[in-house]
Amino acid sequence: MSDTPGIVVMGASGRMGQMLVREVQAHPGMRLAGAVERPGHDWIGKDIGTAMNGPAAGLRVTDDPLEAMAGAQGVIDFTTPQVTVALSTLSAQARAVHIIGTTGLTDEDIAKLDAAARHAVIVRAGNMSLGVNLLTQLTKQVAAALDADFDIEVVEAHHRHKVDAPSGTALMLGEAAAAGRGLDFKQSYVAARDGITGARAPGSIGFSAIRGGDIVGEHDVIFAGAGERIVLRHVASDRALFARGALKAALWGQDKMPGHYSMLDVLGL
Ligand code: NAD
Repeated sequence: MSDTPGIVVMGASGRMGQMLVREVQAHPGMRLAGAVERPGHDWIGKDIGTAMNGPAAGLRVTDDPLEAMAGAQGVIDFTTPQVTVALSTLSAQARAVHIIGTTGLTDEDIAKLDAAARHAVIVRAGNMSLGVNLLTQLTKQVAAALDADFDIEVVEAHHRHKVDAPSGTALMLGEAAAAGRGLDFKQSYVAARDGITGARAPGSIGFSAIRGGDIVGEHDVIFAGAGERIVLRHVASDRALFARGALKAALWGQDKMPGHYSMLDVLGL
C-alpha cells in the first residue's frame, strides 16, 4: 500500500462530492480510497470514474462507509446532517480524520460530533475557503471597532438546490460579528423578516437569504450606520475552492490529537 493518505469521499455523486473526487484524484499527496453514496443510489457498484463520465478509476462506488474506510486515513463528508452525525462514530472507529463540510447541523448534532471528537480528529467548517475564513476574522475586528450605532446584517445568496438557510457561512459570519461586539449570538439572531416586524431591535444581527440559479455562494456583512455603510463581501465563483480547502484539512489532520477543529486551525488564522 502507498504511503500517501487514502481519502474516502462521502456523497460522491453530489455537487461537492464529484468536485472532491476530481480534486483528490488530481492531488499528488493523496489517493482516492473510497467513494460512498446512499443505499439505492444508481451509482452503487459502478466505477466512480465512468459514473462521472470519465475514464475508469478502478474503484467502485459503495453504500457501506465502513468498507470504504478500511485502510483509509481520511473521509471528506459534504452530505446531510443525519449522515454526518452517523459517520462521525464510524470514522472514530476507523481512526480516519473526518472532514465535515455539511451545513444545517443542529446544536444536538454538534454535541454528538463533540462526543465523537474525543476519539477522532474532526475538522468542521461551514465554509472551507481561505477567503471566507479570513473574512470571519475581519468581521470580528470591524464589529469590535465600530460602536453599537452600526447595525449588523448578513445577506447571502446561493443556487436553487440549497436546502438550508441561512447558510453555514452566514452563521459563521454572524457568530464572528457577535463575538467582536460582545453579543450573545443566539440572543442577537433575527431570521428573515416578514410583515409588521416593528422597528429593528438594538443589538440584533439580521439574516437574509437569496436562492436562485447556479449561484455558488455570495456573502455580505453589512455594518449600517447613520450616513455611512461598510460592506464586507466574499464571492465564490467555483466550488473547487471548497474542495481544495477540505483536502488541505484532510492532510493537516493526519498528525493531530483527537479534537473538534475548524478551518481557522487548519489555516493558522
Ligand atoms: P448534494 O445534494 O449535491 O450532495 C449530497 C450528496 O450526499 C448526494 O449525492 C446524496 O445522495 C449523498 N448522500 C445522502 N445520503 C447519503 C448516505 N447515507 N451515504 C452517502 N451519501 C449520501 O449537496 P451539495 O451541494 O454537494 O452540498 C452538500 C452539503 O455541503 C450541504 O450541507 C452544503 O450546504 C454543504 N456545503 C458546504 C461547503 C463548505 O465549504 N463547508 C461548500 C459547499 C456546500
